[in-house]
Amino acid sequence: MPEAELLFSEVSRYLKPEDITQLKTAYTFGQGAHSGQFRKSGEPYISHPLAVARILGGLHLDAPTLTAALLHDVVEDTHISKEEISERFGEPVAELVDGVSKLDKIKFQTQEDAQAENFRKMLLAMARDVRVILIKLADRLHNMQTMQAMPPEKQRSISRETLEIYAPIALRLGLNAIYQELQELAFRYSHPLRYRVLVKATKAARGNRREIVGKIEDAITNKLKESELDFQVSGREKHIYSIYNKMVEKQLSFSEVLDIYGFRVVVGDVPSCYVALGALHSLYKPIPGKFKDYIAIPKENGYQSLHSTLLGPFNIPIEIQIRTHEMHRIAENGVASHWLYKSNEIGSSDLHLKTNQWLQSLLETLSDTTDSLEFLEHLKIDLFPGDVYVFTPQGKILTLPRRSTAVDFAYAIHSDIGNCCVAAKINGENAPLRSELKNGDRVEIITAPYAKPNPSWLSYVTTGRARSHIRHFLKTIQYKESVELGERMLNQALHALNINPVLISESQWEKLVRDSGAKSKKVLLADMALGKQLPAVVAKRLASPLETQESKQVTSEPITILGTEGLTVQFAKCCHPIPGDGIVGLIKKDHGLVIHVHNCPTISQNIKSAENYLDVAWGKDITRTFEVKLKIIAANRHGVLARIAAAIAKTESNIDDVAMESEKDYTAMGFILQVKNRHHLALVIRDLRRIKEVAKIIRV
Ligand code: MN
Repeated sequence: MPEAELLFSEVSRYLKPEDITQLKTAYTFGQGAHSGQFRKSGEPYISHPLAVARILGGLHLDAPTLTAALLHDVVEDTHISKEEISERFGEPVAELVDGVSKLDKIKFQTQEDAQAENFRKMLLAMARDVRVILIKLADRLHNMQTMQAMPPEKQRSISRETLEIYAPIALRLGLNAIYQELQELAFRYSHPLRYRVLVKATKAARGNRREIVGKIEDAITNKLKESELDFQVSGREKHIYSIYNKMVEKQLSFSEVLDIYGFRVVVGDVPSCYVALGALHSLYKPIPGKFKDYIAIPKENGYQSLHSTLLGPFNIPIEIQIRTHEMHRIAENGVASHWLYKSNEIGSSDLHLKTNQWLQSLLETLSDTTDSLEFLEHLKIDLFPGDVYVFTPQGKILTLPRRSTAVDFAYAIHSDIGNCCVAAKINGENAPLRSELKNGDRVEIITAPYAKPNPSWLSYVTTGRARSHIRHFLKTIQYKESVELGERMLNQALHALNINPVLISESQWEKLVRDSGAKSKKVLLADMALGKQLPAVVAKRLASPLETQESKQVTSEPITILGTEGLTVQFAKCCHPIPGDGIVGLIKKDHGLVIHVHNCPTISQNIKSAENYLDVAWGKDITRTFEVKLKIIAANRHGVLARIAAAIAKTESNIDDVAMESEKDYTAMGFILQVKNRHHLALVIRDLRRIKEVAKIIRV
């Protein structure tokens, strides 16, 4: 049968007789228009539009789509105009042909930094009518199928474009069969040698596998028969490209990739899927963590199935997919399956509705958008409402969950970048690390070699990746700092007992560690810093055998505080001590060392005798700043807060927080400021007094 007759007989199974008549007219018209034109292979040109129409007929697409497919190169390659097509075949067909012709003129860029632009172009085309893209995909598929006659250089560039642009669109639309064939062909032409080697190896391996595949299939069939299901089982052959990809991505050898056997079970309805799953799990043991329920939670493109990996005979992993007939149609043909079966089955009409809503909103977005980044922002929200899309300085797109911050971005790039980040630039402007990212933001992370993660980051990061890296880092660093501080605390406690720490022998330590049930000396030291053990108590226990010895006179020195101790030393929020203040240290159970000012009202006066008391003093050359709380009473006058803030900024102090309470004539302002020490604070207060509205300044 000639190919044209094949097309008409195939589509007559689902199209009306008048549709077939129109197709026949379109075919004759196209044949006339392309007469005298030939493909590289030598065939008359009409063979190409015909093949494209057959591919789309295989997806059961509607009559206008098939008519447009037959005419898709007519406007581009012959003297026929869009108007003429409109007159003969109607406006919808003319629009489709026009859409495909325009799409042909688009030059996709393949550089990484042009992703947004590529996306815009292809979706602009799709937004007109998703059928334009379906025709274009079928067109590309047939061109790839008949590429042998092309020069190798052309084969490679077309293949690259197919892999980067067309295959992902096919996947996005759920057109699995087309997606896989496009990938397979593109791989074959872009890596001819690798392709040939893998084909040969696969063929050889399949011969060896035939017996075991048959055995497993029999076992599955028999097991499912027991549960009285209506089902079909088929073995899944792996595509060459997916074998290659797995080898590259997961660094597996050829045999490791091929030693996974795939089977598909198709059943009548959803409950049967779970019955079949249960049956197969009782046949072979499921591998933990490999079960995925895409029926309950479908993929973005509408894909639904149950996936599980079982441990078969000889410990061979078996990948199982279980789905209904309806799910199978969607899995193979995606969005096109709406035209495929126009029944009221829930699955496809749902998908159709979703696709339509999406395209509709896309059209609305397009009508008033020109900027490609803005476009991308609208678009991506529609596609994946849970994500934000942001750019690296190199223009690479990164997908992050909504509400992600600059810190999440830093960890998404690399854990080292996250651990060392100090600030961010968003769209070229300095921004705090906690800034939430918006679609289209261009984010640059500024790092410093000695920077460390801050525990406060945990309060605003969104991604699990950032959270776990920060936690891990803090745990490690805190332990190290705790051991150091614990040792200093213990030494001071020993000095207080007139014992030189160096006189304590290893065996004394061993005995103490054994008696206290701690894992090691280090753990015991860290426990002291964290407030789980009191240094005075530990010192006494270490000291008891030494008491009989003659101990040298040693003076007890306070532990110096530099503010750089990290997480193990905290500054009390009740009194906000700053360098220059007299201070005391309290070991708070399970918290560690907390520094208070010596006359802090929260501390009872007879504290010095307590065992959890620690003698501390400020070190010299402290460079960091400390929080201090000021209460300022000022007259209610216009602009007074601005004047106060300006005065504070002038003295190079930072305002962390301000709270206000207004009375009739006066406002009480609570400031939290960053200052270096008491001297710095005195300068701040002096300058604030010069503002005439300021009536009173109290350090809280
Ligand atoms: Mn074409």
